Amino acid sequence: MASDLRLPTNSIVRPDKETFLNEENPFEAMMSRFDRAAQLLDLEPGLYKVLRHPEKQITVSIPVLMDNGEVEVFTGYRVLYNTSRGPAKGGIRFDMHVDMEEVKALAAWMTWKCAVVNLPFGGAKGGVICDPLKLSVGELERLTRRYTTGIINTLGPDSDVPAPDVNTNERVMAWIMDTYSMAMRHTVTAVVTGKPIELGGSLGRREATGRGVMISTREALKHLGMRIEGATVAVQGFGNVGSVAADLLTKEGCRVVAVSDKSGGIYNKAGIDVPAAIEHVKKHRSLEGFAGGGEHVSNDELLLLDVDVLVPAALENVITRHNAGKVRAKVIVEGANGPTTAPADAILDEKGVFVVPDILANAGGVTVSYFEWVQDRQAYFWTEDVVNERLTEIMVRSFNDVLQLSLQHKVNMRTAAYMLAISRVATVHRLRGIYA
Ligand code: GLU
Repeated sequence: MASDLRLPTNSIVRPDKETFLNEENPFEAMMSRFDRAAQLLDLEPGLYKVLRHPEKQITVSIPVLMDNGEVEVFTGYRVLYNTSRGPAKGGIRFDMHVDMEEVKALAAWMTWKCAVVNLPFGGAKGGVICDPLKLSVGELERLTRRYTTGIINTLGPDSDVPAPDVNTNERVMAWIMDTYSMAMRHTVTAVVTGKPIELGGSLGRREATGRGVMISTREALKHLGMRIEGATVAVQGFGNVGSVAADLLTKEGCRVVAVSDKSGGIYNKAGIDVPAAIEHVKKHRSLEGFAGGGEHVSNDELLLLDVDVLVPAALENVITRHNAGKVRAKVIVEGANGPTTAPADAILDEKGVFVVPDILANAGGVTVSYFEWVQDRQAYFWTEDVVNERLTEIMVRSFNDVLQLSLQHKVNMRTAAYMLAISRVATVHRLRGIYA
């Protein structure tokens, strides 16, 4: 009987109202969504308490010998939020804005994300406070290797498997893989995903998050009875996620009318030449100077354009209680992690905006990371077509799982995605019990 598997508890800790204490705190934003889904699921108090806490939080000081002969000390984090369903999985970001609260939220989001698409992984995230643009390649390599050494006790194909995130790439993953392999004294490709193809990376991994965003958009438009051909799209962020999503959506027949990056954005009603924008960024490392036949828009203005689909694919907290009321898009597909704050959710709901939440919309990346991990472990590699076919299958199935739950419980897609994820994680906790 299910009740026999319930966790022992002696006190009930449950919020009696939704609290939005600090809109900008990503961990609180995550928790307020978690709380709402947990209440709807009637999660037992013991499990509720367990799932509100990260399993492990690591902070490391990272001394790096700089090119000028001086030593700098950087701070890095790795948080393993939950490993009940399998090895912890999640990226590492290098950014000046990294802090423990953000890493905790991102690690929790990875837990729910892996569960929504039903991968046999838990969730983790890592980050180092630094500005990679100000570091030489040598400094970046020494920083990466020393950070890897600092967190090496959690790493391993069966325990914690990093991947790229903001400002990290295949080269950084190769250094992590090499550092870990040196310590183990044999080559361990499956310790990290998002590697170069020659080192055990998977075909299709680089494009996977953007491809997942395209598939989510296609499914959302289909559900809403909107045609994909000619649908207008604005994409915020032109990195690995935004640029690929813009390119693939164009190939599906959409008209991408606006794109942006740190340098600002371009709006062209007739449609942006996305391949030309990608070429420009390859050469100049930014959209700056790309005319695209359009007018300049700021990143904030881009969010409020009159388009069918808005894809925020940059950073957290861009759609807030201050601008959500002015959003004109009919559909939002969250390419980034946490682009919408919790108070903004309610405003978008009221306006009838259909939001495909981050933990579903951007799960394509970790899904192909899973494929990479499987391929590495089997030392048997798939063709790109097989990767894309299996990715499509998982994304379409997951979108529909979440949609069904949202229709059944009359909740938005975000709450439904959290409900699906939390119930999957809760089930394994009930089955495993509390180890004493
Ligand atoms: N950093 C990506 C994300 O946020 C990918 C994580 C992974 O592949 O492990 O989903």
